[in-house]
Amino acid sequence: MGTYAITGSASGMGAQAARQLTACGHRVIGVDLRDADIIADLSEPAGRRSAAAEVLAAAGGVLDGAVLAAGLGPGSGTDRNRLIAQVNFLGVVEPLLAWRPALAAANRAKVVVIASNSTTTVPMVPRRTINALLAHDPDKAVRSLRLLGRHGSALMYAASKIAVSRWVRRHAVTPLWAGAGIRLNALAPGAILTPLLEAQLAEPMEGRAVRRFPIPVGGFGVADQLADWITFMLSDSADFLCGSVIFVDVGTDAFFRTDDWPNGVPARALPRYLWRFARGTPKA
Ligand code: NAD
Repeated sequence: MGTYAITGSASGMGAQAARQLTACGHRVIGVDLRDADIIADLSEPAGRRSAAAEVLAAAGGVLDGAVLAAGLGPGSGTDRNRLIAQVNFLGVVEPLLAWRPALAAANRAKVVVIASNSTTTVPMVPRRTINALLAHDPDKAVRSLRLLGRHGSALMYAASKIAVSRWVRRHAVTPLWAGAGIRLNALAPGAILTPLLEAQLAEPMEGRAVRRFPIPVGGFGVADQLADWITFMLSDSADFLCGSVIFVDVGTDAFFRTDDWPNGVPARALPRYLWRFARGTPKA
């Protein structure tokens, strides 16, 4: 039986994944603002540091896996964009970087980062916002959207999820992660009826947009359905999965981006492709 860290363990998908893992006999170390083994505010540098350190201490330096589910959706409220940047990006990557040696110590650990299908279905997400997040600069990310006022929060949300997905794919294949046997993947859900989505539905404009969003099979998902995917991605059956972003959204990504990918290697990407091909897989 394994030991798993779960952020956002008090609600929604994180809570349901924690219940499923515990029911299977695993040990879960939950991190959240409330109702968790470790109470920490991932929007603050000190909270991220204490969450990281307390998980390592509780796990005895060996983690079989981690689920990064803590997150905020788009919405109104003071400084929403900053909170989204801090929790959805820094609150994922800073704990993960601190936990990497403990994950490596488990030999074939699995990490599931909860992204979103807003990564591919929200138009016009500014590249500079994504790049500022990837540079760990939330102030610059917030500044990049300042002219949009409260309407910028949907773009900040999508940017935070694109940034974590890109971070996952960049790191997953490196010697420090893949080379240490760690399978780092992301899950990109569609609309799942949790408190996060309920809050969006309660906002007049945001709620209208969510209700009108095309969902080919129809309907919202429930946390249990996504927890099944999370526990699968943490299991031995997922040993062959690395660097993937798995869309579980009953068709919205396929609807909007039918032929966009998979799409081979375009000419502009050929130099990088050939360079990587010639270099081969980097060794630890
Ligand atoms: P949720 O609101 O039920 O759970 C999110 C949890 O994160 C809560 O327990 C909350 O307390 C915690 N959290 C928020 N801010 C925190 C902070 N500063 N420090 C520590 N913990 C904090 O939402 P959910 O829908 O289960 O969301 C889980 C993840 O899935 C999020 O990253 C979300 O962006 C993503 N997601 C949700 C949907 C959806 O439709 N619900 C769709 C795609 C992706």
